[in-house]
Amino acid sequence: METTKPGGGMRRLSGTEISKQIKEELKEEVIRLKTQGVSPKLAVILVGDDPASAIYVNSKKRTCGELGIDSIEKKMPANTTQAELLAVVEELNSDPSVNGILCQVPLPEQCDEHEIICSIHPEKDVDCFHPYNLGLLTAGMPKFMPCTPFGVLQILKRSGCETSGQNVVVVGRSNIVGRPLSILMSLKAYNSTVTVCHSRSRNLPELCATADILVAAIGRAEFVTADFVKPGAIVIDVGMNRIEDASHPKGSRLVGDVDYAGIQDIAEAATPVPGGVGPMTIAMLMYNTINAARFQSGMDRFEL
Ligand code: NDP
Repeated sequence: METTKPGGGMRRLSGTEISKQIKEELKEEVIRLKTQGVSPKLAVILVGDDPASAIYVNSKKRTCGELGIDSIEKKMPANTTQAELLAVVEELNSDPSVNGILCQVPLPEQCDEHEIICSIHPEKDVDCFHPYNLGLLTAGMPKFMPCTPFGVLQILKRSGCETSGQNVVVVGRSNIVGRPLSILMSLKAYNSTVTVCHSRSRNLPELCATADILVAAIGRAEFVTADFVKPGAIVIDVGMNRIEDASHPKGSRLVGDVDYAGIQDIAEAATPVPGGVGPMTIAMLMYNTINAARFQSGMDRFEL
């Protein structure tokens, strides 16, 4: 898989290229499933008019279309009550034609995100946010894979980066990125020695500089600089931060949590932003939707 090393410097781990390859594999699997009478279907709930959420939902629906996965959107107004939202989740939970359900976050303030996540049937929880599915992951028997963390692992695997025995430092402990990634990488399947850091960690640059694989999932633009990186390390940048830039046509641009240019002569390889972890997350959502359809039809996991 494409891991360019322009001019002999740091290898660029392209999530765009890797996600394309994975989507081709998933497309073929959907064709196979359809010949067996199984047609995967994802339901996406969008509440309110947040423009960023609308873009994410459209891109998820578009990717479903590309892969031959059916999708439906439940669009609800910004003043939707918690009871109305719960009723829609319930309707989708009991619809046998729907394999996966996701509710786009953030939700308007009158809605309780945690209660909504918990109301999605664990067998349809393709975001892998439900505590039941996080519990299975922690017990070392994951059913669905957390999308962004599994995307990171696919980048590593398909770029030839060994995880077994490696010292991994994950900066960030959120329920959707840092914590599930640190749990996954500590499982026997990956065998990493994992350190999890957060805003209260002391000596952060020194801790990060012990990492063979350094993952930044912080949400602070270009926070990880050269002094955080051990020579020869692999650096995975999960961050997506929009910063103002008058020279850019849009007046702003997307940057990661890592100073990508600043680590060029130190790291062995790194993911860019954009074009790194971002495109992997949607591909993994599609993967989970296909597996939801397989599990609900009595089949086992489709392995990547
Ligand atoms: P959260 O805000 O939920 O978590 C951020 C984590 O970073 C927290 O654990 C926080 O510590 C830690 N942190 C914040 N400041 C510091 C600091 N100065 N030093 C050390 N640790 C710090 O964010 P998410 O996990 O949801 O997202 C992280 C980033 O990844 C964001 O930029 C987000 O946009 C991006 N993202 C990208 C995705 C993709 O597909 N590429 C998908 C999801 C997220 P504490 O717990 O102590 O507060």
